[in-house]
Amino acid sequence: MIPEQAGAGGPDSNDSSANDSSANDSSSSDPGAAPLSLSPALLEAVRRVAATDHLLVAMDFDGTMAPLVDHAADSRALPHSAEAFAGLADLPRTTTALISGRALDSLRAVAFPPENTLLIGSHGAEVWMGPGSSELMLDDAQRDLLAAIRTELEGIVDLAPGTLLEDKPAGVVLHTRLADDDVAEDAVAAARAVLQDRAGVFLKTGHRVLETSVVNATKGEGLDFLRQATAATAVVFAGDDTTDEDALGRLLPGDLGVKVGLDFTQAEFRVESPVHIGEFLAALLRERNGTVGR
Ligand SMILES: [Mg+2]
Repeated sequence: MIPEQAGAGGPDSNDSSANDSSANDSSSSDPGAAPLSLSPALLEAVRRVAATDHLLVAMDFDGTMAPLVDHAADSRALPHSAEAFAGLADLPRTTTALISGRALDSLRAVAFPPENTLLIGSHGAEVWMGPGSSELMLDDAQRDLLAAIRTELEGIVDLAPGTLLEDKPAGVVLHTRLADDDVAEDAVAAARAVLQDRAGVFLKTGHRVLETSVVNATKGEGLDFLRQATAATAVVFAGDDTTDEDALGRLLPGDLGVKVGLDFTQAEFRVESPVHIGEFLAALLRERNGTVGR
């Protein structure tokens, strides 16, 4: 039983107080029941969205499908989440997608997505819509700029123990998770100072990372693109990080947005951790199964 889950939000959480009490009531009146960690309001929203004509289920990966880990290559979806997501991918009138900050290659290497799952990588700069889908192309100016960014960041990483760089097709990422807090802060501040006013360079801050890109894309644009391309009549999106707010901000009435964790969000619903996303996806699969008749 995780009674604090549904009300995990801070002052920005709309659905917190009422759901805490109902979750607690439920467990005390029926101690033998399965743990209830999704709020009744969220379960009701799942039922509503599952009844739509064509459902797009778009998920962030790290911190949402998968718990956060120190080494990006070790990230794996929780089994319950992977299983329910694959079940949704199999259903008619249902499209699954992952929208990740990872480069597509890196996303595939950790997520093992179902074959027909659409992929948005590099925060929207890379798109995979199936076999034959075109790859990201940079022009000469973008390639030169990318090399210049890398040179600047190499100088910073050399002076900041525990920080490291990751190359992406359209950017370089400064990772600071393994550095001491003050070292991490200084490294990010130094990188911002040299890059933030540079034309053609786009910066994003995440969990102990500073993302640089020579392509101006966001998860919000990725979500809009998927909505159009799939002709979805309702969209589900869940994410844990600040860059996921771009996608949560694009949701429309009738969609369903879920924030993982305690940070500020504009999502209508909030869960505490990736474990609850497994339960959420299982509930969505159950309801969607009912709708599409399998
Ligand atoms: Mg994430």
